Amino acid sequence: MGDKLRSWWFDGNSVFEFRWPHRGLCHIVVPMDTHALPPRNEMLGAFERRDPTYEGVFLTAVRTTGVFCRPTCPARRPRPHNVEFFATSHEALLAGYRPCRRCRPMQPLGASPRWLERLMRAVEADPTRRWRDPDLRSLGLDPVRVRRWFKTHHGMTFHAYNRARRLGRAIGRIREGEAVTSTAFDAGYDSLSGFNDALRKLAGASPTDAATRGDIVHVTRVSTPLGPMVAAATDDALCLLEFADRRMLPTQLGRLTRYVPGVLAPGANDVLRNVASQLDEYFAGDRQRFDVPIHVPGTAFQERVWDELRTIHYGKTITYGTLARRIGSPSAVRAVGKANGDNRVSILIPCHRVVGSDGKLTGYGGGLWRKQRLLEIETRVSGD
Ligand SMILES: [Zn+2]
Repeated sequence: MGDKLRSWWFDGNSVFEFRWPHRGLCHIVVPMDTHALPPRNEMLGAFERRDPTYEGVFLTAVRTTGVFCRPTCPARRPRPHNVEFFATSHEALLAGYRPCRRCRPMQPLGASPRWLERLMRAVEADPTRRWRDPDLRSLGLDPVRVRRWFKTHHGMTFHAYNRARRLGRAIGRIREGEAVTSTAFDAGYDSLSGFNDALRKLAGASPTDAATRGDIVHVTRVSTPLGPMVAAATDDALCLLEFADRRMLPTQLGRLTRYVPGVLAPGANDVLRNVASQLDEYFAGDRQRFDVPIHVPGTAFQERVWDELRTIHYGKTITYGTLARRIGSPSAVRAVGKANGDNRVSILIPCHRVVGSDGKLTGYGGGLWRKQRLLEIETRVSGD
């Protein structure tokens, strides 16, 4: 605890960077969902029968091997519970997986660029190597052509691909429980580019002084069928649970550091492991109540709203108006809606169970489609 967090940044997209005086740099990557994936069972079925019509719809990754594949990969099928799905190779890389050598998920179908093969092999052989234009030319490659090919086929530069591979390796090690040290991250990786302004503001709210008196708040990524979530918890309680692509996430992390003084550190603890396994059960329809301590300090009004939310039963919905009446402020419907949206712990504090007076779903920070899916899961199960 002697090492207090000096600063932290978020690139506004998927990478968090933390800097400590002694431990140095570390990064947390929370991949963005670029498009919604089909239901997990549908993808499992398509993967099982190697259905070519799902090419480009999803990629599969296998936790036990650390490899990601096309849906049609000829390799033997892993056990379904070890399979994770991604919308893009970029996300699979950032989650710490490497491309399969058999089905080559990074290469466009039917257009294997022979001219790139030597380079790709060299990259795989030494992912920590930093490539400069002269290195590419020494392989007989035109750097401009290489960049253009990666841009066209992967929507990222060759540089970004390499960076994703390096970060992915580091993240893969974190997932395996390796202690986070600067050495885990200095694998040829120096600085993050493209910090956005919103997050510059956030850095102003950095918890530098809070760190000396607070807890360690562990931050990790949790996979769910509705996309990755970011979860944060002290050793005592869950403090944040948000979908990783949510626009509010940086704001919420900023608030978290104000309300829960402490050092944000990548990694898991018992609370987070509990949350992950209970979420698995919830999404499978096997859990209706969560048994995880929650710590969500806010304004007195927010806390009233959040407490009331936790009394709404699984599979039920109420309107914003009802919620306002229940907390004794019947005219504060808008403020109630705002407090609902400011909820930092999705799902466990079930703000998705509040709907408009006409029964319409109205807003949800994680996206309306997610609200709909969550309510579908709950009504299906409680209707049984
Ligand atoms: Zn494969």
